[in-house]
Amino acid sequence: MEPTTDIKALSRGGIEAAFAELGQPGFRVSQVVRWLYQRGAGSFDEMTDLPAALREALAARFTLSVPEVAARQVSSDGTRKYLVRFADGVSVETVGLPAGERLTVCFSTQAGCAMGCSFCATGRGGLVRNLTPGEMVDQLVLVAADFGQRVSNAVAMGQGEPFANYDATLAGLRFMNAKDGLGVGARHLAVSTCGLLPGIRAFAREPEQFTLAVSLHSARQATRDRLMPGVRKYKVRELREALVAYAEESGRRPTIEYALVGGVNDTGEALGALVRFCAGLLCHVNLIPVNPVAGTGLARPAADAARRFRDALMRAGVEASIRVERGADIDAACGQLRQRAKG
Ligand code: SF4
Repeated sequence: MEPTTDIKALSRGGIEAAFAELGQPGFRVSQVVRWLYQRGAGSFDEMTDLPAALREALAARFTLSVPEVAARQVSSDGTRKYLVRFADGVSVETVGLPAGERLTVCFSTQAGCAMGCSFCATGRGGLVRNLTPGEMVDQLVLVAADFGQRVSNAVAMGQGEPFANYDATLAGLRFMNAKDGLGVGARHLAVSTCGLLPGIRAFAREPEQFTLAVSLHSARQATRDRLMPGVRKYKVRELREALVAYAEESGRRPTIEYALVGGVNDTGEALGALVRFCAGLLCHVNLIPVNPVAGTGLARPAADAARRFRDALMRAGVEASIRVERGADIDAACGQLRQRAKG
């Protein structure tokens, strides 16, 4: 019978369990992980330091797929955006952001997304499927190969809601972090969530120092419900409580992502609500002038309005910055490259 499970769909624990069943010693797991993610093996046959019998046993049990770059755009500022296609034809977007010695990758955790945020092109198409841990790691592998440079930072801020695919996302982060994986420091690996509370609570208890970013976009319930209908059931008050608990439990400071939408969440009332949300909460607010997406009717505020909003936050004692825009001349907003490739 042909194997149906891809070895890259497994967490490290999954590979360990499979190797234990095959009667293999633990160090073989590390060898295979190196072949998968450091050397980018395309078949078990290439894994020449594994005994031939083990290579055959693995090939009988698992498939081994390698994704491909289906489209690529390069911005004048060096940002590169990729459409990465997996073995079943499903594709996602990945972005590489170089800055001197640093190379940051924004990777996807799901194909499509069920959250339906009103300013997002991806959300409009709904969820296609979850990505496996290997499909997340391979996005970094492809970007590193394209730049000829190792990945120094990665953030799960591409397509999908990472905490709606929690176990695979954690397994992917662990391969990115592992010495026999990509060796990216845990503090340089970040997850950006819409605010799924069970995920935030679980993430606080993970032993690694991974970084958490939460998309708030409005501290006013009605505005947030409108911008982010997928998380309506979690109230702003509960989200704040979860973040206070997260900071206390993990000792880490979450980032609050706030996409500024002109006339919607950049008003005086919105500012007051955000200041109250952040009071007493260890956090940093990252202001992102929203990317214009055709048909949403949502627009970014003027540049000086964003600066005024940031300055008002700082005066109120809230640490805040405006995200530097990258890749403005390519289809930079999440979901746009994929839609264009579909024609
Ligand atoms: S912004 Fe992120 S969470 Fe919201 S719909 Fe788009 S991909 Fe999903």
